[in-house]
Amino acid sequence: MKTKPLFVSLVIPCYNESRRLHLLIKGLETFQTNWKHEFEIVVVDDGSKDGTALIVTQLLENRFFNRLFKVISLPKNQGKGGALQAGVRQAKGDFILTLDADMAAKPTQLITWLKQMDGAFPEDSVLIASRNHVLSKIEAKTHRKITGSLFNQLVKLFTPIKQSDTQCGFKLYPRAIGQMLFQNLHLKGWAHDIELLYKAYYLGISVKAMPIEWKHVDDEKIDVLRDGIKMAWQTVKISLQFRFNRNKRRELKALKAQYQTMLAKKNS
Ligand code: UDP
Ligand code: MG
Repeated sequence: MKTKPLFVSLVIPCYNESRRLHLLIKGLETFQTNWKHEFEIVVVDDGSKDGTALIVTQLLENRFFNRLFKVISLPKNQGKGGALQAGVRQAKGDFILTLDADMAAKPTQLITWLKQMDGAFPEDSVLIASRNHVLSKIEAKTHRKITGSLFNQLVKLFTPIKQSDTQCGFKLYPRAIGQMLFQNLHLKGWAHDIELLYKAYYLGISVKAMPIEWKHVDDEKIDVLRDGIKMAWQTVKISLQFRFNRNKRRELKALKAQYQTMLAKKNS
């Protein structure tokens, strides 16, 4: 079994989460007890108006050593993608796990993934949770399953992304790859995953769908109709831009050159 030391940054976006923070803290404590490697917690308060930043800081101070966590406060609400971008930028781990504050998927899932990966995460691939994986265990609301499936069809139709679930909040990136994919994010809201996965596809980065235990948690922030329409539009738009807009294509090419330089340095 490969046993390279590994340090994981847990990046957690939080928008008006005061009512669900007890779930987050419980999930993190269980992770701390069971995870045998190094980790840090990076919470990003996405311009909340309900005191999330203060409450989460106090809760974390009571339960974790200062060196283990960091709370970043964004002055204005950016959207989930924008919040993740701010956290990913400051992450120090070898790997970056992005996950939702409501613990719909628990951080201890990472321990299962590590076992499935024979004790070491790949250094050149992104692992994304898929609620459509045959081994996944899902408790979801019917209307969310339907809208989710419609969105996945749209993604397959309009983008080259081959994944059957792009939207699950639980994703693991080798740090350099994660920071590169997030560095120039245009879609700061719910559709940010499409931009990231499109870029990963364009760069030829392998993206592996992984099983997940996922349970719906109430008090979600998404407005299925309004946000769903916006996500669909942004998906179609970004995919057209990446194909036909000269500036956007130039940007993709520059990113590819950056990635190739990074690979060449790693291999030299
Ligand atoms: N979130 C955020 N900024 C926003 C909206 C949501 O940081 O503007 C965070 C939220 O706090 C949560 C994650 O994104 O950690 C997913 O949100 P939620 O669980 O409400 O959405 P779901 O995926 O369950 O519909
Ligand atoms: Mg949720």
